[in-house]
Amino acid sequence: MNGNANLYALLEAGFPVDRTAVAIETPERTYSWNEIGQISARIANLLQGLALPAGSRVAVQVEKSPEALMLYLACVRAGLVYLPLNTAYRESEVEYFLTDAEPAVVVCDSENLEWMQRLAKKTGAVQVYTLDANGSGSLTLAAASQDQAFETVQSLPDDLAAILYTSGTTGRSKGAMLSHLNLSSNAQVLHKYWGWRPDDVLLHMLPIFHVHGLFVASHGALLAGARMIWLPKLDIDQALHYLPQSTVLMGVPTYYVRLLNDARFTRELCRRMRLFISGSAPLLKETFDDFKARIGQPILERYGMSETIMLTSNPYDLDSGERLGGTVGQALPEVQVRVVDDKGAELAPGEIGNVQVRGPNVFSGYWRMPEKTREEFTADGWFRTGDVGQWGGGAVPANYLSIVGRSKDLIISGGFNIYPKEIELFIDDLPGVNESAVIGVAHPDFGEAVVAVVVPRPGVQLDTSAMLAAMKSGMANFKVPKQIHVIQQLPRNTMGKVQKNILRTQYS
Ligand code: AMP
Repeated sequence: MNGNANLYALLEAGFPVDRTAVAIETPERTYSWNEIGQISARIANLLQGLALPAGSRVAVQVEKSPEALMLYLACVRAGLVYLPLNTAYRESEVEYFLTDAEPAVVVCDSENLEWMQRLAKKTGAVQVYTLDANGSGSLTLAAASQDQAFETVQSLPDDLAAILYTSGTTGRSKGAMLSHLNLSSNAQVLHKYWGWRPDDVLLHMLPIFHVHGLFVASHGALLAGARMIWLPKLDIDQALHYLPQSTVLMGVPTYYVRLLNDARFTRELCRRMRLFISGSAPLLKETFDDFKARIGQPILERYGMSETIMLTSNPYDLDSGERLGGTVGQALPEVQVRVVDDKGAELAPGEIGNVQVRGPNVFSGYWRMPEKTREEFTADGWFRTGDVGQWGGGAVPANYLSIVGRSKDLIISGGFNIYPKEIELFIDDLPGVNESAVIGVAHPDFGEAVVAVVVPRPGVQLDTSAMLAAMKSGMANFKVPKQIHVIQQLPRNTMGKVQKNILRTQYS
């Protein structure tokens, strides 16, 4: 890379020539490309005025707003490390992150100012600002008197741009350190692979404290010079209102389930849409099929994580391959993906094993956890994703990856390895079943026992003994659940991931 490796320099090069054009539209107002440059410059000047040491962290726990995006861009421009925090975290949780990351600056919602100030003082921050959902707050006020021009600082490819804490359903949450190069390289790959165009309109409804909404979605639109319709969250009425003028939507699987549940969601409404992307959690094959039948387009499912940004994608260009429901597609250009056994030997298509990855997009390590970092990388530099998957298998071509689950969700019962996904797929196909989650719970004889938690379709009374009978005749006995629990809804986090840890505690 020549010149400045700062991510903002790359993004800015994609802004349109006409900087008065609309870059971000909310239901209340619009922001031009000029304003993105100017507002982020003002905040960058403000932060630079604090004369913080290089690599200082800016921890941000605020509601989604265009100003929050500009705060992110300002940190990048000023060479500071952006550290977004899930807005659902409460004081005791935020305390862990601030203690671990020791940010120099903290930005929070004015509602949380009191306890945030207390925590910030305890953990050594020099400044606390507020930023509310409507864009107002002490940050905006202080930035208003700053210069609207800012020369983006010179960054090296490996300089840190962001720390993303993993959702950490087991053990301590870890801060994934992402560099300007990690983010830039992935943004460029996705720009090309998904065919981003200046006349795209992205319907942005994802949270921006997570890799999906902050990096994948926002970088995509900014780098393309494409307009974003910016909504705080999924709101079906708003989504239906804005879909006719949109061309790209990124969502977690539940977004698609909820859209399909609404009869107003039609092919006609999506006439300008060229791309529906799903990720962050597995998309049910059934949702993929229903969507294609209703809307006439296959959802593009992709796979990635906080530590690596995007890794694989189903093809955008349908001439280069089909989009296959139930798979996460092919390795992205520049990204290497392999499936290995526990000894590290590469497995043949159809064999299930550990997914490992390598590439310019892969993070350098976990913040202040050198040992954990060493454990998660192989000697030759592959990152152990913790996901279990397979290439091909059955009718699936060998260059398509399927994710079977997280390795920590693997069940070992009576010495047999059991992949929950296999049993979940079987259960989901039984009559009256909406979805399911299969977990392992401690068992005195088997080590672990298989337990299924099943959600019926609306109005259906499930007959669990008939379900067990069907399973007994359709799969090896050691895989058949010892218990089936029927519940109305699976516990999910904001990114749509089923929280198996909660189920394990509940049914242990
Ligand atoms: P996060 O770091 O919160 O983005 O979580 C990353 C994890 O989400 C991955 O390691 C996978 O376990 C899971 N994940 C992301 N995308 C998919 C997908 N398309 N299918 C299945 N699992 C996914």
